[in-house]
Amino acid sequence: MSTDTNVDPAEVAKFNALASSWWDLEGESKPLHDLNPHRLAFIQSHCSLDNQLAIDVGCGGGILTEALVKAGVDTTGIDMGEMALNVAKLHALDNALSIDYQHITVEDKAIQSPEQYDVVTCMEMLEHVPDPVSVIRACANLVKPGGHLFFSTLNRHPKAYLLAVLGAEYVMNMLPKGTHDYQRFIRPSEMAKWCRQAGLTVNHLKGLSYNPLNKDFYLSDDIKVNYLMHCTRSV
Ligand code: SAH
Repeated sequence: MSTDTNVDPAEVAKFNALASSWWDLEGESKPLHDLNPHRLAFIQSHCSLDNQLAIDVGCGGGILTEALVKAGVDTTGIDMGEMALNVAKLHALDNALSIDYQHITVEDKAIQSPEQYDVVTCMEMLEHVPDPVSVIRACANLVKPGGHLFFSTLNRHPKAYLLAVLGAEYVMNMLPKGTHDYQRFIRPSEMAKWCRQAGLTVNHLKGLSYNPLNKDFYLSDDIKVNYLMHCTRSV
């Protein structure tokens, strides 16, 4: 797949609709803001961010993209949501951050800039695309040999349905109803298989769990709901 065929317009529209509240720390993107320091810590625990070139795939309003830039990484952000990208651009401008945001599919970006990046991140995006395998393959083509890739998504496990769909969307109203489609959740074993098929080595897998008492996330060994995967491309 090399063009827009791997974009579900309804999925992208959901995130465009959130654009105005993307940087509202108490709004509908609150879970992404709360997840952010933990996923950055995961990234930093597995690769050095000094003098690196990174690309954030499905960057949305730029929550992780900005965190990478603040950690000293020269980062490009790509997304197919035009409104979300506009918010990302404005927010970077307001905060005097230099970030290259582009409206392009990851498949096309991989054709344009193969083996260009030391670090590729793709967080909370795979569960919103028709063909996640194509995205993983494109990410594997974007990374330099020896480079690092970080994916995160939701596990197709009943506990994820209970917590991430029923709990977050319907009980606690943390996310708009309909944000997630359980059928598109990805089991870690599937993800690992797709990564290996794309020529990657799967190095680390970690859960991202939610503690309702302090209303914060933490890195855990429970991968039944949300999880992070670290891969490398061999030299
Ligand atoms: N990665 C960001 C945003 C996650 S929200 C973060 O974790 O903070 C999911 C994002 O994926 C949205 O911005 C949506 O527009 C984007 N997206 C969905 N399908 C896409 C596709 N096919 N190509 C690129 N971006 C896509």
